[in-house]
Amino acid sequence: MQLESLVNLKKTIFFLILFFLSFIKLNAQNECATILTSEEEEYLSAAKVLRQAFYSSNKTNADIIYIPVQNHVFHSSNGTGGLLENDITTVIATLNYYYKNSHIVFYECSPTDNINSDTYYDFDNTQESSVASLYDISNVLNIYYCNSVYSSGTSVCGYAHFPSSTPKDRIFLKNSCATNGSSIVHEVGHYFSLYHTHGSSNNGTTTELVNGSNCYTDGDELCDTPADPNIDGLVDANCQYTGNATDANGDFYSPLTDNIMSYSSKSCRDSLTPDQYSRANYSAIYDRAYLSCSSLASYYCGSLGTVWAVKYCDANSNNGAIGITVSGGKQPYQYLWSNGDTVEDISNLSGGTYILIISDAAGCIISDTITVLCYTSSIKEKEINTSFIPYCINGKLEIKYTGNYSFRTNVTIVDILGNVLFSDQVLFSPQTENVIPIEKLNSGMYCITISNQTYKVIYVN
Ligand SMILES: [Zn+2]
Repeated sequence: MQLESLVNLKKTIFFLILFFLSFIKLNAQNECATILTSEEEEYLSAAKVLRQAFYSSNKTNADIIYIPVQNHVFHSSNGTGGLLENDITTVIATLNYYYKNSHIVFYECSPTDNINSDTYYDFDNTQESSVASLYDISNVLNIYYCNSVYSSGTSVCGYAHFPSSTPKDRIFLKNSCATNGSSIVHEVGHYFSLYHTHGSSNNGTTTELVNGSNCYTDGDELCDTPADPNIDGLVDANCQYTGNATDANGDFYSPLTDNIMSYSSKSCRDSLTPDQYSRANYSAIYDRAYLSCSSLASYYCGSLGTVWAVKYCDANSNNGAIGITVSGGKQPYQYLWSNGDTVEDISNLSGGTYILIISDAAGCIISDTITVLCYTSSIKEKEINTSFIPYCINGKLEIKYTGNYSFRTNVTIVDILGNVLFSDQVLFSPQTENVIPIEKLNSGMYCITISNQTYKVIYVN
């Protein structure tokens, strides 16, 4: 290659690199608008020593803390746009995936609150008090999902509130950020008193020293997150820190680029440290102890229960039917089927999955998902009774089967962290109560799957 063309090629590469660097910089806005107010700072400072004593001994209380969540999804006024129920399931699963390390479990206290409103679909933080007075459920974590979120006129990913003596239990998130896998974990981190790894401000840099000598008091007040100068726009496509800033001693920073509480690229953020998990655990226990969901037991189990029977159908005539028997709770019951029916039993069904929500006069809600299978063969009107009633007595789980035939089927019980406590074949005999042979269960929630057909979350007191 001639010298001139080689120089031109080098020039081209140089400008290409410059172009991409400027592109990365422009797109590296981290867009967290959580601001530490003076009241929150005062509140957090008051227990600073206790907070530090807790996580400096790397303590995480063994008890699981259940955090009730109310999801509020904004749609435009005509009902279009906004997150789907699957997205909400993903959000809760993402939170539980990370915060199980803080022994925190998030659960939905009540079903998603879907709100059609052009006024709030594109939300501005000056609207927060009006949204709160209209839709907040007190003493639960309210998460609002909006098409866009503005803070002081700037589009942001979202924001939360730190603990304080007058707590605001709400988080606002832009839809596209809610499902990116890290922003919701980041904002919930603030809700549980976690600062950015570059410190309590959202835009400034840190006074924490690289040598770690003031790690308890500066930066995020945690010593297993190295000093971070604020790495917004300073992380490359390989998640490498590209900055060369130095601290007051002239030492070069070596910040974490995978930390969720940092301003690294969102796609690089996938971890929290043991001290961060411990601080969040402390916060859940001591700052958020007032959270409660009054309808928890009823919503998940209570005495309200259903027994259902499915008639298999002929695909040519769509003559499937589901019969329901409801027991317990407080009558009268109300029924809402996913096909829009509001009666107890539904018929003339084609094959598919039907979801039933039953509410009683006491406000308890349960739901069931029932599958109707249709065949093109000669099987018609074959009634299969697949009724199971899982319940708990003195910490033991029992299953009552109300069918008329003996058979063996798979039963699986997992705890809320996904640990399988029992998975085996169980013999069911007509009208008997089967005790699942596992050790006494601690208080908490358990998921039980029977024969791939019934799925319940039960609460053991
Ligand atoms: Zn933040």
